[in-house]
Amino acid sequence: MHNHETELEAAERRIRNIPRCGAAKLARMEESFLQLLQAIGEDPNREGLLRTPTRAARAFEFLTNGYRQSLDDVVNGAIFESDASEIILVKDIELYSMCEHHLLPFIGRAHVAYIPNGKVIGLSKVARLVDVFARRLQIQENLTVQIADALMKTLHPAGVGVVVEAKHLCMMMRGVEKQNSVMKTSCLLGTFKEDARTRSEFLSLLVGT
Ligand SMILES: [Zn+2]
Repeated sequence: MHNHETELEAAERRIRNIPRCGAAKLARMEESFLQLLQAIGEDPNREGLLRTPTRAARAFEFLTNGYRQSLDDVVNGAIFESDASEIILVKDIELYSMCEHHLLPFIGRAHVAYIPNGKVIGLSKVARLVDVFARRLQIQENLTVQIADALMKTLHPAGVGVVVEAKHLCMMMRGVEKQNSVMKTSCLLGTFKEDARTRSEFLSLLVGT
């Protein structure tokens, strides 16, 4: 349907389609960013900053749009009957989230696997599901568990495995950790937790490119 649009057009369409937070909340965020500029000793009236509170509020609206989406909305109509009984892995899902301790981004990739139990979900929906939880204030451990739980709840599969690897700007920019350290978290449920063979198959799928 969207075959002919450019990357930029696709990005703009996604931004248009996010659930908005409403004018009142947007205005409060703008006011907060204005105060933040003043508090750090900036002049909000200098040319480069004139529209910054507005832009920053819009950016925050987008980065937190997961609060305004439900699982049902996202998976709506994309669950299909299937006899498949092998691991289905969606690898390298781009992930952008925000650390709830510092309001700074953490960015990386999610790998989501499950073993169907009669039902499968469209591949692109798995990425949408990751975004629902990533576009909130998060810590990586909770994000990983929430993605796994959501898939479990949606598909009732035999098992779910989620691995998230991410770099945290709150650590990198503040020099807290080695600059390129990647944090890895995982959540294994059902057969991925109970069955050693399933687990090792999952892990070997992650290693291979
Ligand atoms: Zn942080």
